[in-house]
Amino acid sequence: MSTKYIIVTGGVLSGLGKGIATASIGHLLSSKLKVIPIKCDGYLNVDPGTMNPFEHGEVFVLDDGGEVDMDFGHYERFLGVTCKSKWNLTMGKVFDMVRKKERRGDYLGKTVQYIPHVTDMIKEHIFDIAHIEKPDLIFVEIGGTVGDIENELFLESMRQMKKDVGRENLLFIHLTYVPIPYGVNEQKSKPTQQSVNLLKQRGIFPDIIIGRCSQFLTQDIKRKISNFCDVKPDAVITGLDVDDIYEIPLIYEQEKLPEIIHKKLNIYSPPDLSKWKNLVENIKQPTSHITVAMCGKYTKLEDSYASIIESFNHCSAHLGCKINLIWIETSGLTDTSFFDNIDGVVIPGGFGSRGTEEKITIIRQAREKKVPFLGLCLGLQLAVIEFARNVCNLKNANSTEIDPNTPYPVIDIMPDQKNLENKGGTMRLGAYPALIQEGTLVHSLYGKSNITERHRHRYEVNPDYHSIITENGMVFSGSSIDGKLVEFIELPDRDFFVATQSHPELKSRMDSPSPLFYGFVKACMKGLEIERDRRNGTGH
Ligand code: GLN
Repeated sequence: MSTKYIIVTGGVLSGLGKGIATASIGHLLSSKLKVIPIKCDGYLNVDPGTMNPFEHGEVFVLDDGGEVDMDFGHYERFLGVTCKSKWNLTMGKVFDMVRKKERRGDYLGKTVQYIPHVTDMIKEHIFDIAHIEKPDLIFVEIGGTVGDIENELFLESMRQMKKDVGRENLLFIHLTYVPIPYGVNEQKSKPTQQSVNLLKQRGIFPDIIIGRCSQFLTQDIKRKISNFCDVKPDAVITGLDVDDIYEIPLIYEQEKLPEIIHKKLNIYSPPDLSKWKNLVENIKQPTSHITVAMCGKYTKLEDSYASIIESFNHCSAHLGCKINLIWIETSGLTDTSFFDNIDGVVIPGGFGSRGTEEKITIIRQAREKKVPFLGLCLGLQLAVIEFARNVCNLKNANSTEIDPNTPYPVIDIMPDQKNLENKGGTMRLGAYPALIQEGTLVHSLYGKSNITERHRHRYEVNPDYHSIITENGMVFSGSSIDGKLVEFIELPDRDFFVATQSHPELKSRMDSPSPLFYGFVKACMKGLEIERDRRNGTGH
């Protein structure tokens, strides 16, 4: 079977969840088909690695070290694929490739133009992925909304692709918004009509329209959209607002989306959603609750911690425990009374010095009060600094990222990071193996000694301080294979005081939650039980 293509575009508003929609459709089709997701982003950065997560959401890191759009997190979590950085095509990357070709003389004698040279480059890149991976189905999600200047070249390429691969091999899905204005109380189709008109002006005629709405779309509105937008009424699908994104494939299945795709592309693979349904049920009907403090810097934008949030959702799905995350903005924090109402603390990754002293104070309290603590990347570095200062008596110990003049640089830049000129794509990135010490809590959580997690950092625990830290009781429970880099730490006399230099949240999946998150949540739940017993007078 030759590769088929589904192109997903969006209209009316940004932020309608096109990435999750694409991932959800992919989930429905991926049980028997090899599905590859590709994301096109119109910005001129080569990758999102140099962008502020506050602006663009989390930078997702792949096994191969690619720093990619956060939608790849959804793709991996919903499709169970391990994505490659080549699958994220930014306009910055496209222009880079075109310019390289031009300098090489590949276009000799020609004027290099947006059409055909840039559009050809986009198509070549996609066909190249199809050639290498030989998938049954490729999704191409076009970031942003139709009408954005920066997406025009991607849309034009997709229009041309239909002719290149044959109309029976490619379909367009357009995600729009169906508002129910206050006081009118009626689903409105006009924004969808206008957005589809914008697509049509570009020569793209959608085959399926998904209308994001707070209710199921009525037959009436489906008929109306069908009439105005030239799609069959059964190809107008509800994209229902849900509390839990993992419900979306179930909604699409209910709306018979796989069958409609089948009719058009002839690729039906009936999805088996029974296991997924049970896991979603566990999230929706929890039997216990815990509260976890997420102490970070970009806490205003939950997107900047998307993978952490999803890792907790995966734990909920398996433990039937609702995890209430409370977001603590650490910069300028003086009041730590939130400790009275939480079951655990997470210090996530981060860069720069803002809010780090406050985080160190929080870690100290977690350690002293024996509150379950999970540190991720920067979280490990700050836990080591706290321990160095307050247990090893290394006054003003710090990371050279935060205080270049610290007398005790317990966290220091890795030697191969020292003289790098370029900031983009030069951190220690991607999957690295680690060796876990038998007998440690981390070993019992992973259940093995050889593991792999993804990384994104420049700093590390300074080897000059390894012995003083371990002599004082901190356990290095995992290291790089050569033993040089500290990958996991723990404090043995706690229920859960664990941190890692990696980002385990990037590999957590619905069917296999990250072992560290799972262990952390269980420790929080145990603490909850002890607390409950104490209150009821049954504890010791
Ligand atoms: N800023 C730290 C480093 O570069 C931590 C990075 C992170 O948390 N991802 O090592």
